[in-house]
Amino acid sequence: MAGIYIHIPFCKQACSYCDFHFSTNLSRKQDVINAILQEIKQRKNYLKEEPIETIYLGGGTPSLLNLDELTSLFDALHQSFEIHESAEITLEANPDDLTKEKLIDLKQTSINRLSIGVQPFFEEDLRFMNRAHSAIEAVQSIKDAQHVGFEQISIDLIFGSQTTTNKMWESNLDQFFELNISHLSAYSLTIEEKTALANKVDKGLLANVDDEKNYTQYLMLQTKIKEQGYEQYELSNYCKNSAFSKHNSSYWFGKQYLGIGPSAHSFDGNSRQWNIRNNALYCKALKDRTAYFEKETLTEIDRYHEYLITSLRTKWGVSLPFVQSSFSSSISTHFSQVLHQLDRERIILSDERLSVKNEFLFQSDEVVRSLMIDKI
Ligand code: SF4
Repeated sequence: MAGIYIHIPFCKQACSYCDFHFSTNLSRKQDVINAILQEIKQRKNYLKEEPIETIYLGGGTPSLLNLDELTSLFDALHQSFEIHESAEITLEANPDDLTKEKLIDLKQTSINRLSIGVQPFFEEDLRFMNRAHSAIEAVQSIKDAQHVGFEQISIDLIFGSQTTTNKMWESNLDQFFELNISHLSAYSLTIEEKTALANKVDKGLLANVDDEKNYTQYLMLQTKIKEQGYEQYELSNYCKNSAFSKHNSSYWFGKQYLGIGPSAHSFDGNSRQWNIRNNALYCKALKDRTAYFEKETLTEIDRYHEYLITSLRTKWGVSLPFVQSSFSSSISTHFSQVLHQLDRERIILSDERLSVKNEFLFQSDEVVRSLMIDKI
């Protein structure tokens, strides 16, 4: 089983914290969609006929696509891949796009999961982040999506922003619980290079994020979400009734995936490749049939490190038998030696698994670093 990610590189406006690849110039939208359709055809053999169990339309803002554009993408995917009948098919959507009419259109497609970019439910935070929607639209879009029959809904929330007090964060969480949504992705605000926020911080116009406030809000989230019956299954992901994101989980389990569109990454088990992060050059390369990606083959150490980084962010952690059977004796011996020196306050260790306790997942990088190896 494998997954497909499609990157739609357009947004209505630039959020102040965002460093993803996107353009606010929508005049090239049709050209990029045509190039994406071409890439789908060209890469039909990348996953070696593995059935597809997840499709994820991310971005950018895929909810900017209209029904015809979405239908053309799904038709092309069905022509080139065997898509499992119960595949999880997710669309990332912004609240301002999710009108009732749009939701009815989306329900006609094979999309069965929405990931809605709420970020905060407060107007003050939304303006600070330069989001295109209002607080009222955020709540209404979720209610409307539920009303038209979307059962699998996830929302994204951001904590630790300079404008978000602890009380506001608590209210954001209360609003989330009130809406009865089964999945939450919650991220701490980070100041990424070349963003509007980084520019303000560099010029001394804005204080950097406060790590202590970030951690306090992370712990508030953990306490409140547990009280409400949700389970934390990854550093930033929570669900109830086992509504895990199958697509994101497949990244953490090291499954193969194909990334289509400008800046999208792919992984076939042994190598990674990433597409050009420029819409015009991506379209030109597809048209001229020239290279539109770079590629690197992973060494054994790379694969071991990736396994540690992804696994130790999840509740499932590292499988000890997997490390023994999948890596050379130098790596598995190193792993076993370091394992017994780790701080028992932070980890859960059994004969089968090593994982990081939820309250320390925020610092799981420290456990990862201890287990890394320089050479074999
Ligand atoms: S809508 Fe999403 S991808 Fe677009 S700028 Fe905002 S955060 Fe970034």
